Amino acid sequence: MTISILTLFPSMFAGPFDYSIVRRAQEKGIATINLVNIRDFATDKYKSVDDHPYGGGVGMVMRVDVIDRALESQKSKVKSQKSKTILLDPRGKTFTQKKAREFSQLDHLILVCGHYEGVDERVHEIVDESISIGDYVLTGGEIPAMVITDSVVRLLPGVLKKESAKLLESFTQHHMLEHPQYTRPEVYKGMTVPAVLKSGNHKRIEEWRKKTTTVRKDRASLRRRSG
Ligand code: SAM
Repeated sequence: MTISILTLFPSMFAGPFDYSIVRRAQEKGIATINLVNIRDFATDKYKSVDDHPYGGGVGMVMRVDVIDRALESQKSKVKSQKSKTILLDPRGKTFTQKKAREFSQLDHLILVCGHYEGVDERVHEIVDESISIGDYVLTGGEIPAMVITDSVVRLLPGVLKKESAKLLESFTQHHMLEHPQYTRPEVYKGMTVPAVLKSGNHKRIEEWRKKTTTVRKDRASLRRRSG
C-alpha cells in the first residue's frame, strides 16, 4: 500500500514514522509513505501556498490550485482504482477503527494536511472525503495524518508479528473494548493480579476475558459487563 501525505511540513513526520510498526512496515516493503511538500507546487516566485480570505478575516487560507496540483501529481503515481483522497478537516466525518479497516483495503491513500486557517472550501470538491480525528482543533493536519497512517498500517497483512492480535483488539467488533491485561510483578503497591489469570485453566481464563470485555455505549460512558 502507498500512503501519500501532502503537507507543508514534511520534516514533522521524521520520528513518528521511524519507529516500531510503521518503520517495520516500510522496511518490509508492505507500506510506502510518500511525503509530498505542497510548496513544491506553488508557481509564483514567492512559492505562495496561501492567501488572505475573501470577505476579510484573520489568518490565511491554503489555495485550492496549489493543493490540486499536488494531488494530481500523486494520483498518477499509483495506477489503481482502489485509491482515495482524504482532506484532514475538523468538520469532517469522525475517524473510527471501521474507517481504518476500510482504508487498509486500498492500494493508495492520499492525505491532505491543511494548515493556517484551513483550506479553500473548493478543496472539498476535489477530494473524496473529509475526515476529522475528533472534536477539537489542531494546528495542522499533520498529527491527524500520523494517526490515520499508524492505525491503517498496523492492519496491513504481514505487519504485526502476531496477526491474531488485531482480531481481538478494541473496536474490532462493533463497540467492544479489549479485556484488561496484567504482567509481572504479581503484586504492586498492594494491587494484585486476578487469581484466575494465574490458574493455568485456559477455559476459565477465556471466560474471564469474555466477561471483562467492555462495550462502548457512547462517547461518554462505558458499561462493564457484570461479573
Ligand atoms: N479554521 C478551521 C476551523 O475552525 O474549522 C481550523 C483550521 S486548523 C487550525 C488547520 C488545519 O488543521 C485544518 O485545515 C485541518 O487540516 C487540520 N485539523 C485541525 N484539527 C483537526 C481535526 N480535529 N481533525 C483533522 N484535521 C484537523
